[in-house]
Amino acid sequence: TLQGKTAVITGSNSGIGLGVARELARAGANVVLNSFTDREEDHALAADLAREFSVKAQYIQADMSKGADCRALIEKAAACDILVNNAGIQHVAPIDEFPEEKWDAIIAINMNSNFHTMAAALPKMRAAGWGRIVNIASAHGLTASPFKAAYVAAKHGVVGMTKTVALETAEEPITCNAICPGYVLTPLVEAQIPDTMEKYGMGREEVIKKVMLERQPSREFATVEQLGGTTVFLCSDAAAQITGTTISVDGGWTAL
Ligand code: NAD
Repeated sequence: TLQGKTAVITGSNSGIGLGVARELARAGANVVLNSFTDREEDHALAADLAREFSVKAQYIQADMSKGADCRALIEKAAACDILVNNAGIQHVAPIDEFPEEKWDAIIAINMNSNFHTMAAALPKMRAAGWGRIVNIASAHGLTASPFKAAYVAAKHGVVGMTKTVALETAEEPITCNAICPGYVLTPLVEAQIPDTMEKYGMGREEVIKKVMLERQPSREFATVEQLGGTTVFLCSDAAAQITGTTISVDGGWTAL
């Protein structure tokens, strides 16, 4: 059980981040939710989690594209025993047409934020005498696809940073690992299904199996609950000697 631990999950008002927050709360951890918005429904998500799992939960607005905001998130959090770097965006274009502002935003949100939050969180973990860092990378942290230069560069960077921080904390009761998901059916991916159905003249199931999951041998999406469960495992005593590595949750993608 993670009772008494506090987890900060970046980009957690939807998708994988929210799923990870729910599983950490189910395991007894207090949770800090985050995104760049500051709406009533963001704060309501935290109140709902607190009620459902009888834990403490707060929502803190912070823009992960800004280093000062990343550090402020960790400072404002009641504690940070578990840090899950999850915030991320995507843009798809050939490199010679890739908009510079999209490149900068993806590198900032998907990679640089991990540097700032880890730098701010490690002193808190050392003071507490325990820490777990879980970086949500991607199958694209280990392999590439065309038209995703910024995303692939950022996620490979996250995997490299994960190994470095693991070495810097190796003799301490702190671990640092990355989870590499394949396709997960989050609102972001769900939104692409209708367009793709129209483009290929296919039904929903055909689009999912033949187009979206073409690279995922299981032909099944990974779920946010499975990613939450993997995160909880990495926070458990059984995983205390697992550090500086990646766990793929990708239905066999990277075995190909
Ligand atoms: P999502 O769009 O549902 O979630 C992204 C989260 O990041 C949201 O909560 C959003 O509010 C937040 N976010 C975006 N920009 C932010 C900013 N500037 N500051 C703070 N928060 C910000 O997408 P998701 O699929 O749940 O993605 C979550 C993570 O998982 C990303 O890092 C993504 O690269 C990674 N991932 C997703 C998949 C997939 O198939 N869905 C696969 C591999 C990796």
